[in-house]
Amino acid sequence: MTFRQARYDEPLLWEVRDPVEERPGVTALPGVPVGLLRKHPVAWPELSELELARHFTRLSQMNFGIETAFYPLGSCTMKYNPRVAELLSRREALLGAHPAQPEETVQGLLELLYELEGALGKITGLPHVSLQIAAGAHGEFIALLMTRAYFEDRGEVGRTEVLLPDTAHGTNPASASMAGFTSRELATEHGLIRARALRDQLGPKTAAFMLTNPNTAGLFEEEILEIADEVHRAGAILYYDGANLNGILGKTHPGKMGFDVAHLNLHKTFGTPHGGGGPGDGALCAGERLADYLPVPRIRREGDRFRWDYDFPRSIGKVKTAFGNVGLLVRAYAFLLAYGESGLTAVTERAVLNANYLARRMGELLPRPFSPLVKHEFLLSGAPLKARGVRTLDLAKRLLDEGVHAPTVYFPALVEEALMVEPPETESKRELDLFFEAFRRSMEDRPENLHAAPRNLSVGRVDEVKAARDLLLSWKDLRDRRPPAPGN
Ligand SMILES: *Cc1c(COP(=O)(O)O)cnc(C)c1O
Repeated sequence: MTFRQARYDEPLLWEVRDPVEERPGVTALPGVPVGLLRKHPVAWPELSELELARHFTRLSQMNFGIETAFYPLGSCTMKYNPRVAELLSRREALLGAHPAQPEETVQGLLELLYELEGALGKITGLPHVSLQIAAGAHGEFIALLMTRAYFEDRGEVGRTEVLLPDTAHGTNPASASMAGFTSRELATEHGLIRARALRDQLGPKTAAFMLTNPNTAGLFEEEILEIADEVHRAGAILYYDGANLNGILGKTHPGKMGFDVAHLNLHKTFGTPHGGGGPGDGALCAGERLADYLPVPRIRREGDRFRWDYDFPRSIGKVKTAFGNVGLLVRAYAFLLAYGESGLTAVTERAVLNANYLARRMGELLPRPFSPLVKHEFLLSGAPLKARGVRTLDLAKRLLDEGVHAPTVYFPALVEEALMVEPPETESKRELDLFFEAFRRSMEDRPENLHAAPRNLSVGRVDEVKAARDLLLSWKDLRDRRPPAPGN
């Protein structure tokens, strides 16, 4: 099977509207004071319902999503977002709720959030939970602000450094820097942190060590208990980047490993939409050391009533408008209920099986650094393709022509020409086999074709640097840059 994306040259709505002067003028509505009427018609597109329906249907067919085909983006856990969670989050009572509504009128919602906090506290082994976190990187930033407040309270203001491994996600050093710390990278050995090497780097300047486990090479940090001991002996905080929780759900948890605080990416592990499909969402789970510093308000239960509690004098304060991305929290809660405790363990077992199956097959095509057995994701090196003048980037673009999303590429940087593949539990063996065949076809294609890819999509290869540096953020920007169409 290959997938052909629809290739429309779909104009912007602004470009299909009739010229202003051909449209009827604005008519006065009875009772509207003349002074309030517009002097000129608004430059809005005027389209029929059918034109509008076609426009958005075509746009949707130019898009790629988890419901189009396999989406093996490593570290991102692109799993199916169950319909049941969508349905529940769209209930009328919830859609109409307002953050300023009196607590008595949102008791059901508060109870749901309270229950969700309890479930996440249990899953992580870190019982104090804030749901005010927008996503993973936000969780890192907030936890580091909490870490700073914690050390300031203790008079340990010399703790200015955050350590992280060379397998760390780019958001880790970025968050450290935003929170006012300097960060330093530690070299891994065969993809793993060695406790002894870490010990030499820890000291009175260390505020925190940030780690994800399993790490971004898909490997479980075997020395995690020694690592936790070393970090704590040095007086520092051990931070868990929860992006890879899909590799250990129900089997173990960060609390048991000795972590002090953890962020969860609800959009990765707990099936809420992300990427183009949704805004992402997070949670921050803390043990006793940092619990007092969590954002306010927190939900307090009094008998069978629930209320927002602002009375945490050490808290770093409120960190997000409203009370978090509530619609996504409801989806995550529905996901948890739908799977249940044993279902979550099965999620991890299936994800790990999928990863090892695909790793074994793809390992016949490209070399795999590090240990052959992985948790939920694995790395390949595209370095051997360089002999044919082909790079990992070409292979990733060529895969798009096969109708699948590319894996994560060039991360982590310690693997040359890296590809990082994550097949979550919601993929079947059939899909994995189809992907394997698509990957093999792509690899074996002629170099010219690889260089020219993608050729079947609505857009070809874009200049990624220019795309990031030279932003066109609105229709007006675009109109001002484009040469006028002939006849206009
Ligand atoms: C995705 C990810 C993050 C950042 O999370 P966001 O929700 O995208 O902000 C951090 N660390 C790792 C390992 C990740 O995969």
